[in-house]
Amino acid sequence: MQNNYSNPQNQNSDNNANSDNFDHNHLWHPYASLPPSYPNLVIDKADGVYLYTASGDALIDGMSSWWAATHGYNHPKLNAAITNQLSSMAHVMFGGLTHQPAIDLGQKLLSIVPKGLDAIFYADSGSIAVEVALKMALQYQLSQNKPERKQIATTRSGYYGDTWHAMSICDPVTGMHSIYGKQLPVQLFTDKPENGFDTPLSTDIKQRLIEFFKQNQYLISAFIIEPVVQGAGGMRFYSPEYLTLLRELCDKYDVLLIADEIATGFGRTGKMFACEHANISPDIMTVGKALTGGYMTFAATICQRHVAEHIANSEYSALMHGPTFMGNPLACSVALSSIELIIDGDYPKRARHIESQLKRYLQPLAEYEQVTDVRVLGAIGVVELSDAVDMPRFQRLLIENKVWIRPFGKLVYIMPPIIMTDDEILILCDRLKQVLADYFNP
Ligand SMILES: *Cc1c(COP(=O)(O)O)cnc(C)c1O
Repeated sequence: MQNNYSNPQNQNSDNNANSDNFDHNHLWHPYASLPPSYPNLVIDKADGVYLYTASGDALIDGMSSWWAATHGYNHPKLNAAITNQLSSMAHVMFGGLTHQPAIDLGQKLLSIVPKGLDAIFYADSGSIAVEVALKMALQYQLSQNKPERKQIATTRSGYYGDTWHAMSICDPVTGMHSIYGKQLPVQLFTDKPENGFDTPLSTDIKQRLIEFFKQNQYLISAFIIEPVVQGAGGMRFYSPEYLTLLRELCDKYDVLLIADEIATGFGRTGKMFACEHANISPDIMTVGKALTGGYMTFAATICQRHVAEHIANSEYSALMHGPTFMGNPLACSVALSSIELIIDGDYPKRARHIESQLKRYLQPLAEYEQVTDVRVLGAIGVVELSDAVDMPRFQRLLIENKVWIRPFGKLVYIMPPIIMTDDEILILCDRLKQVLADYFNP
């Protein structure tokens, strides 16, 4: 299509050609080069647990669009929440103004989060929610006259987002941000807990964590962790015992504990929040991804009263963050409906049921010599390979077998919409098995 605003240099070039070409030459995709090394798939429509390609294939969705679309796609209740809200207002600024959708969502959120969490900051994405959590922690320590406590502590293999400080706490070696290395703030890393939800914590790991706190206590404002599941940093599960010990140490040394539940929240691991596996409450918690059921970009940072009070009583008193689109009413409305679906459908229980299915269906894949580990927790299944996946070839096999997942490195993993029926889970796993069979035995 021609318009009067197009750059003259681009005329008669791919602007006029088909839309695939435009995408290829002009649109960046996540963690990709431009132009990309292999084409992106055009999706026309998504409904239930299927993605429909422009060429008419129905791919079963094993990714929930990166943990978010927990109710599948085109859900009537979520569609209605947005359209109803749209007819009264799409957005107003949150500075000096408030509205019912923000209040209703806040009340609902506080009714399900671990006890003690009490004050909510609405953010625009997961990474921003993490930045806000870090700022809260810093302002908290400043309010107690501890300006030297300005570093963040975390374990290796974590992933907390793509903004500057979020990048600085991702794994410095295996994380996706190593090229920014020297430009990033230097944070404090300790060893990660052993692999395995049911693997007891070794005395060695415990001792190292205790030592880490002893040595660094005067430098640390907060310890941030993804409870029980490390997501994009390696798709690892670890013992809830680690969280129990972490809570004790944070209390002992007046370090704030930040739980990043952006991936794990809202039932995915078989509990409403993964912190519940250890029965702990963090001082600050971040949520995102499934918060709006994948409808809109939205997240929240929720803290305990004592954190909010310290910040309020400090020299600056205000929390110095305020996105333009803070508390967007459309996002609040759809998030409220999403949480209602999660509660009414008992998604944590549903995730535990999916866990038993995934264990049964995926375990046989461990027989392949190219598979080094198969692990399942809640509605998350991971097949770890000995070598990194050849993505162009793998993606072609996915389309041939009508299934959508997106491996990274050696990790082939699924986290299907929680609403998937037993039959659909079986279809998903069968197709995934076929893809791997084709991939290993070309
Ligand atoms: C995805 C993710 C983030 C970042 O969220 P975005 O919305 O992509 O900015 C942060 N922490 C964890 C644990 C995540 O899984």
